[in-house]
Amino acid sequence: MQTQILGLLTPLMALFFAATFAVMWRVGRLKRFVLLFALAHVLGATGFLLTHALPSDAFYVFHLTQAFYFLGSAVILFAVCERAGQRLHLGSVAVIYVISASVLAIAVSLTNDVAPRLIIVNTGYGVLFAMGVTTLLAAPHRGVIDKAIIAVIAFQAADFLVRPNLTLLFESSIPAHAYRESVYYSLIGLVLGIKNVMLAMVLIGASIYDWVTAIRESGARDPLTGLHNRASFEQTMRALIPRAEAEGTPLSLVIADIDNFKQVNDIWGHQAGDGALSGFGNLVEEMVRGCDTAARVGGEEFCIAVWNCDNDAAGRLANRIRQAFGRLEQPCLGDHMRLTASFGVATARKGETYGRLFERADAALYEAKRAGRDRVVCSLVEAPAAPQEKSQMVERAEDNLDEVQTQAGLVVNGTAARV
Ligand code: GH3
Ligand code: MG
Ligand code: MG
Repeated sequence: MQTQILGLLTPLMALFFAATFAVMWRVGRLKRFVLLFALAHVLGATGFLLTHALPSDAFYVFHLTQAFYFLGSAVILFAVCERAGQRLHLGSVAVIYVISASVLAIAVSLTNDVAPRLIIVNTGYGVLFAMGVTTLLAAPHRGVIDKAIIAVIAFQAADFLVRPNLTLLFESSIPAHAYRESVYYSLIGLVLGIKNVMLAMVLIGASIYDWVTAIRESGARDPLTGLHNRASFEQTMRALIPRAEAEGTPLSLVIADIDNFKQVNDIWGHQAGDGALSGFGNLVEEMVRGCDTAARVGGEEFCIAVWNCDNDAAGRLANRIRQAFGRLEQPCLGDHMRLTASFGVATARKGETYGRLFERADAALYEAKRAGRDRVVCSLVEAPAAPQEKSQMVERAEDNLDEVQTQAGLVVNGTAARV
């Protein structure tokens, strides 16, 4: 009776966890792997229920239940690897299954003893989970929750490889008809229950963590372009500036503004304007590197924090974006219509605040507009030695005007046009 209750407890718990994952996936609009967690628990619960309901000595039962357990385990490993941005090698999973199912079939045909079958299937799971661990270890950027997942998967691998052998030291032979009364069976209900709760708890924790991160991220994103919004960009810059200074890494700021954008709205309508903004956002996102941060900071104004790039390199990046945007088709505006954008670039000086850096990049952008648009202007790398009693306005103008002319697609620094 006790064994019966334990036998039912595990599948019921698995179904409860499956429902939890499915609800989290639906309500939180989480990624596919959370739904796969639910599917894996349904497969596992089905395996447990079949083990419980079918006669233990029927020849097909072992194969049938193992198919469900194995598939459930493979799905959960596939899902955790997908979450970590890794791919579980499905060919190897299939090979492990075919080998363990074939050896199992031979064992079933040779003996009525369940002990060798248990060793065979558990070794298969052990190898499968060990493969999951090595795949997860190859993922970069491991946080606490990722380490916890690796730990529970490694624990599963160790348990599958060690526990059956240890148990069977004391119960070397289990006839199929007596399997349900064996020490192994009463122990497995408990062990699998504890292992499943552990794994499910860590995966629920990971899903909640991903959910909270997605909510936080969506608050930091511009809904039209998917780039960072102004507040998030400023926060990033305020963190990057002292880091760049401490590490001696150059940090540049690019501000881009689409030219004559008001006319786009006036002629083609606001929705077409939105299409052009979204196109520019996609282009910027594609052209910057992973270590850069791109944002839409105003209506048709964009910013890029260019990490580890000096004035020249950031200017070249801005020019590549300028050229690509000039060629970009604008489906909302008609076949032959192209837009242009102007760019201001500034590289953080020693001890400079974000406000001051932005001012310099914005002044360079202003100069690009004044000089005729569709161009890149870089602010001076070093502050010019200014005479003491200069007025603030003159000082600012001098500061800004290291003109960059775009000649034959190249940004040329240093031909300063001063006002
Ligand atoms: P310039 O070349 O000097 O930058 O001229 P401009 O017309 O681009 O600049 P201006 O600042 O005069 O106009 C910006 C326009 O951007 C005005 C506003 O209608 C439009 N705009 C701002 N936010 C949005 C938006 O979210 N969607 C659309 N479609 N238009 C926007
Ligand atoms: Mg504009
Ligand atoms: Mg503007």
